[in-house]
Amino acid sequence: MKIRSEQFKGNVRKQLADEALQSNLSRFGGGFADRRRDALVKVDDFEALRDRGASIRAEVLENLDYWLLKFEAEAQRRGTQVHWAETGAEANQILLNIARNAGVQRVVKSKSMVSEESGLNEVLTEAGMTVTETDLGEYILQLANEPPSHIIAPAIHKSRDEVSALFEKHHGTPRTDDIPSLCEEARGQLRPHFLAADMGVSGGNFLIAETGSVTIVTNEGNGRMVTTLPRVHVAMTGIEKVLPTLEDLSAILRLLPRSATGQDITNYVSILTGVRDEGAMDGPQENHVILVDNGRSRLLGGDLHDALRCIRCGACMNHCPVYQNIGGHAYGWVYPGPIGAILTPAFLGLEKALDLPQASTLCAACEVVCPVRIPLPDLMRVLREKELTQGLRPWHERLSIRLWRWLALHPGWYAFAARWGTRLLRGMAGSDRLLHTLPGLDGWTEGRDMPAPQGETFRDQWRKKQAAERKIIPIRLDPSPSEKKAGLKK
Ligand code: SF4
Repeated sequence: MKIRSEQFKGNVRKQLADEALQSNLSRFGGGFADRRRDALVKVDDFEALRDRGASIRAEVLENLDYWLLKFEAEAQRRGTQVHWAETGAEANQILLNIARNAGVQRVVKSKSMVSEESGLNEVLTEAGMTVTETDLGEYILQLANEPPSHIIAPAIHKSRDEVSALFEKHHGTPRTDDIPSLCEEARGQLRPHFLAADMGVSGGNFLIAETGSVTIVTNEGNGRMVTTLPRVHVAMTGIEKVLPTLEDLSAILRLLPRSATGQDITNYVSILTGVRDEGAMDGPQENHVILVDNGRSRLLGGDLHDALRCIRCGACMNHCPVYQNIGGHAYGWVYPGPIGAILTPAFLGLEKALDLPQASTLCAACEVVCPVRIPLPDLMRVLREKELTQGLRPWHERLSIRLWRWLALHPGWYAFAARWGTRLLRGMAGSDRLLHTLPGLDGWTEGRDMPAPQGETFRDQWRKKQAAERKIIPIRLDPSPSEKKAGLKK
């Protein structure tokens, strides 16, 4: 996938000026969040479940090498071939070799964010194969030649009219705004692809170490058809997705759909183990899993380690006021929203995504809803600090932070600067008592006005309040040290 995270500010401007997108985003705002809230009240102790989810994910990451090797051994024992890829390009090459060896011409895919990371579709298409995305959202985006804008609802930024226009253009069918009809139309288009495909490519929500299985969690039947109809199946997934046991999976499955879409359970949970049995009607004759690192192992044991707990539910973006206004494409790579603001710089390098960790008010809504308790605002702070210490922020920002630090260490000067700064800002305000522009902070005032300070600094007000309280309460309950001393003498 093309990386555009370096142009974040430009992307944001474009997204904010896009009226159609803004209207689509306003419809999305709150939908998943409301459903999540309603789903949680039906669970006895959701907070305890979150603790369990967080500890399962944390414990597996402590011994990731052990669980991955266990997964590999169990998968191989059941006939699955396991491959290891250090980079996305290596993963693509492995998949391409599998496809060529099996004489594959037609590939059907279900949603795989890792294959978005590696740009798999382009590689297969260049090699002369036909690739069809079969998740409805991904299919719409393939027609529109766009990347996903959300990790669980990739086409959330498109209206039914836009989808209808795309279908008219590519299918030659009349326009309709009836969503079931649009779904029916997509189903009709996709069915022949499932039946003709030589290879199915899926992601993997979770890998189960004790059985060597790949679990995929979907709301459409496409995942099952992709993984069971073609003669070759390849799951491409990140190395962090492993869970020790099916018992652990059942705990995580109580968290994932509720956090993602507010469902008690998704329509399909498929646990794929090994190859087709002798005489069985379906299932792949060749089953492969490609375990992709692509920057993940660099995070292990480091200050961004906790981000690897992510189970890709999307709740952080569903609750993020920034995401809800700018949409997923603004983030410029595979993962948008708060988790994207961490994973993109972590996987691609901080210099490629400088503005992403800054794209947050640190309101902490993401942390409050994260089912595996990832401290997302803290991780963004870690990245902000790195940007500063590595000299990656603009000079005026570094200078102002240094100045602020110096003032914070010198309280007298801090009070002096605050008092004069307050007066200056008050003088700069118009008759409406609003600051429409601030030198050096024009990006901030571009979209909002700042109320001018009313005259006194916090310290002045605090001092006054203390003095007033001393006047109002003449009786002191605790004796002063001198009174205590006098009392003892008596
Ligand atoms: S960071 Fe948490 S809330 Fe966000 S996608 Fe990952 S698991 Fe879900």
